[in-house]
Amino acid sequence: MTGESRLLEGRIIKAQSGLFEVETSGGVITSRLRGRLMKERMESDAAALGDRVLVRQLDDGMGAIEEIKERERVLSRSAPGRPDIEQVLVANPDQAVFVFSCAEPDPNFRMLDRLLVVAEREDIPAVICANKIDLVVTRSAKAEFDPYRDLGYEVIYTSAVTGKGVRKLRKLLENKISLLAGPSGVGKTSLLNEVQPDLGARTSAISEATGKGRHTTVVPELIPLEGGGYVADTPGLKAFALWDIEPEELDAYFPEMRDLVADCEFSDCTHMHEPGCAVIEAVEAGKIMPERYDSYLRMRQGETD
Ligand code: GDP
Ligand code: ZN
Repeated sequence: MTGESRLLEGRIIKAQSGLFEVETSGGVITSRLRGRLMKERMESDAAALGDRVLVRQLDDGMGAIEEIKERERVLSRSAPGRPDIEQVLVANPDQAVFVFSCAEPDPNFRMLDRLLVVAEREDIPAVICANKIDLVVTRSAKAEFDPYRDLGYEVIYTSAVTGKGVRKLRKLLENKISLLAGPSGVGKTSLLNEVQPDLGARTSAISEATGKGRHTTVVPELIPLEGGGYVADTPGLKAFALWDIEPEELDAYFPEMRDLVADCEFSDCTHMHEPGCAVIEAVEAGKIMPERYDSYLRMRQGETD
């Protein structure tokens, strides 16, 4: 050894108040970010869960993050109350699992549609998990969620109470880096506990204040799965506002619209009111779900929830 400390490749698996746990071939190293990196990335999270980094081992056992590799994809939202700030939920995930409950609370399809738009933009495969299937008649849940299958998304129906669909979910998470996201109360914690004992217990500590007196600090973490892979839970999303998506791009992120827009009479068609609009025609012909079109209109008008 020359005395020169080693530079290791790694992945950020935990981020808490300026300290990052970086998993490397040499184990997990608690690291700080070099000051210059913080300045370079002022307007977004300087370093985030899932980021691939180069870390230098220091004499005191700590690490210094010297470089953050460019993110291949990233799931972000506008920070709540700060539309000018990007909040990264996770960088470089293999897939996103969007969890909603069939009832209690009723599914928020407008939020689901916004999450799907971001997944489309970032090329992140999206799975939709419809939980609490035990609370409703299966047929009515399918009537609401199955149309998303027709759009190309995988939909699984689960119950953390009866165990339905849990094996499928476990299989789906295996060997992948997955983000679980959805509103609070839909059963993410319970489901994760069914997938692997105590998995949810570890993530429950990161829940945002629920209004029921459970206010804990938010510590995003990538948690290793026994079968390989990682899962990142997010604090229950109260809101999910789009980050950095231009209104004109939106039609490209709706699978049922993107192939139609070439047929619109005007090349800059907004699909809101123009004559000769192929999207509006498809809505009128029942080929595009009115609810999805409504989601499109809301996003196009800049509504955030
Ligand atoms: P989270 O906020 O998304 O993590 O949701 P929790 O896992 O904390 O669950 C919220 C509430 O829903 C709890 O009272 C759970 O017991 C309940 N719950 C979770 N999953 C199910 C389910 O599949 N069926 C039913 N009936 N209740 C569930
Ligand atoms: Zn149009």
